[in-house]
Amino acid sequence: MDNASHSSHGDDGVALRQRRSHLSRDLQHALVLREGAEEDDDAQLEDSEGYYPEALALVQDGLREKASDLHLDPMTGGVLIRYRIDGVLLDSLLLSGAQATRLINQLKILAKLDPTPAFSPRSGRVTLELDGRELDLRMTVAPCLNGEKLSIRMLESRGVYRDLDELGFEDSDYAKIEGWLDDLAGMLLVAGPTGSGKTTTLYGLLHRMKVFERHLLTIEDPVEYEVPGVTQIQMDPRHGLDFSAGVKTMLRLDPDYMLLGEIRDEASARAACDASASGKGLMSTLHSRDAVGVVSVLRNYGLTDLEISANLSMVVSQRLVRTLCEDCRVQQPPNQEETRWFRSVGMTPPEEVWHASGCETCGELGFSGRCGVFEIWRVDGEDYELILAHADERSIQEQLAKKGHRFLLDDALAKLEKGVTTVDELRQMGGLGRWRG
Ligand SMILES: [Zn+2]
Repeated sequence: MDNASHSSHGDDGVALRQRRSHLSRDLQHALVLREGAEEDDDAQLEDSEGYYPEALALVQDGLREKASDLHLDPMTGGVLIRYRIDGVLLDSLLLSGAQATRLINQLKILAKLDPTPAFSPRSGRVTLELDGRELDLRMTVAPCLNGEKLSIRMLESRGVYRDLDELGFEDSDYAKIEGWLDDLAGMLLVAGPTGSGKTTTLYGLLHRMKVFERHLLTIEDPVEYEVPGVTQIQMDPRHGLDFSAGVKTMLRLDPDYMLLGEIRDEASARAACDASASGKGLMSTLHSRDAVGVVSVLRNYGLTDLEISANLSMVVSQRLVRTLCEDCRVQQPPNQEETRWFRSVGMTPPEEVWHASGCETCGELGFSGRCGVFEIWRVDGEDYELILAHADERSIQEQLAKKGHRFLLDDALAKLEKGVTTVDELRQMGGLGRWRG
């Protein structure tokens, strides 16, 4: 591959990166039809209200490739179509000016946006039914240097939550969660950085609890997915419905269990604690590096050691990694960087590790879908004593290690050995080498 000559094509350097035009299969087909029709002077392909062949083809491509977002990025020479798949942004087709203008117009009309070029960012949304699935498209148009940028977030309105056993829990971890679900007391917190799949796990839990025919209430900001059979309340601080008011309202509605979208400040931490202290089970998410880190975060949000130890029942800490395609993954001796990574986490590098390759099944990506790397902490009597004694994270971790606790790194290494994912994916997770039991 002669990169030097490619870079001179005035293509904003995109030629340097790999283009995956096969991702836009339906769109390419629609564009070919369009060209043919123009040559035949066929009036049938006239753009009109309710007729958006290229726009629908693009959405169809996104749906088939399981993209979470679609991007139309203007650059010199045209507009680049990009797909976010399993968290990674992949370049696909570069459309000419005329093709792009038509596609963008169709998309805007579809989302009921003004089709004239935008001078400030605008958003619109539309619900579509494609292949029997209901899709919620949230579109944002923003003016930028080379023209208008358009991005589309694709959300399935129903049935997006995956069942807990599909998320990648080891059997022993899964058993711990099942045990807590039978008991349903105190606080269960799902912890991890942004984009670590916390919401997916939470909805998986919700779905599972619904099966037990309990009265469930949620207060969320925003309500991301509708869960049939669960009462979901949208937070609305401008009308006085904040976390603490929401929790008070929820308690009056006599739930068996409550879900608070996120603990992100003192007010929401306080609200979560009040709900849990009332004897109802409470579930929420929180930003934290690992399971034990949750204790420090709650302390920083103003909860006392007594409140934390009295209410904290279980922590699920997690990260997301891409899952290797089982049809094409290969085993090879670890390269230099991988060897270094194993040493950095205190491990002897194995003879061979799994690498991504690429085949027809996975669309040449080498990966297919994502799964969680988990750490489950069921807070027990000894842990409560340490929290009450204001022990630091390190001391709590040391005690857990003595009891054979599985840390994030232990789950990560198990997934590596099984060929679920690669060292590269784990390296990008970061924060793994800090502590190992
Ligand atoms: Zn493959």
